[in-house]
Amino acid sequence: MNDLIIGIDIGGTTSKIGLLDLQGAIVCKWEIPTSTANNGDSIVQDIWQSISDTLSTSQIKAVIGIGIGAPGFIDGATGLVYEAVNIGWKDFQLAAYFSSIVNLPVFVENDANIAVLGENWKGAGNQSENLIALTLGTGVGGGIIANGTILNGVNGTAGEIGHITVNPEGYPCNCGKKGCLETIASATGIVRQAMERIKQEPTSHLASFYQQSGVVTAKDIFDLAHNGDPDCKAIVERTGDVLGFAIANLATVINPSTLLIGGGVSKAGDQLLSSINSAFTKYALPRVSEVCKLKIAQLGNDAGIIGAAFLVKEKLGLS
Ligand code: ZN
Repeated sequence: MNDLIIGIDIGGTTSKIGLLDLQGAIVCKWEIPTSTANNGDSIVQDIWQSISDTLSTSQIKAVIGIGIGAPGFIDGATGLVYEAVNIGWKDFQLAAYFSSIVNLPVFVENDANIAVLGENWKGAGNQSENLIALTLGTGVGGGIIANGTILNGVNGTAGEIGHITVNPEGYPCNCGKKGCLETIASATGIVRQAMERIKQEPTSHLASFYQQSGVVTAKDIFDLAHNGDPDCKAIVERTGDVLGFAIANLATVINPSTLLIGGGVSKAGDQLLSSINSAFTKYALPRVSEVCKLKIAQLGNDAGIIGAAFLVKEKLGLS
């Protein structure tokens, strides 16, 4: 068996693990639960145990390195996790610790950045040198590749696109600020927009939908918009407009060839994407928008382990 790379994507609930060849093809993949007990003390041991079990029952001999995507703020140069609130790590030397156990080179990046590297290598990014990626889910995640390199910043906070201020008087955000992009454009933000409209227009179709079902989800809002509900169409329109506005400003800094959109909300389909596209064109410099293509992420849950493998190649100078 030829040389392989281990790609790991640590999440708050599960950790995804993959064995990949140097071309980025997945040889095998699986996932294990992430135990957040005792501030995530056993996570590394659990993952390595699971990998060892797999390696011992296979013919695989030559693993050249391990790439890891971890949540929270990461120093990509050293593999230090400054803070990963949802799994309990703080000032944790993840790369050094993992490497001391496995005796292999270990490299760590933020999980959102890892997914961007994966999409750019094997997915819709098409190996762009300059790219902005957005993940629209419960929150709004992001990552930026500029001049061929993922941006990390001085303390691991570069590319936190969801926390761009789009309304200084807006809703409080989980980060402690007000009016961040994700207070409007995440699934949570989209539902909040709907609840606001229901309160303002208690006799609307949307309000009666809510009264009947007792709940309204982002998916409901996209479905209703698709069926012509004017309130939901307006919500989708506003969400796209705010996203296009934020992206246009970012794109003026990066001048990207690709704008990549992924995450659950991106599955909402053409309505949202065409709103984002037209807002982007409206707010961006023409020279910026005319070279930038909007694309939908393709790799889904595999983006992380593929990007983690790419990170190893890049850091070992194999790419
Ligand atoms: Zn925020």
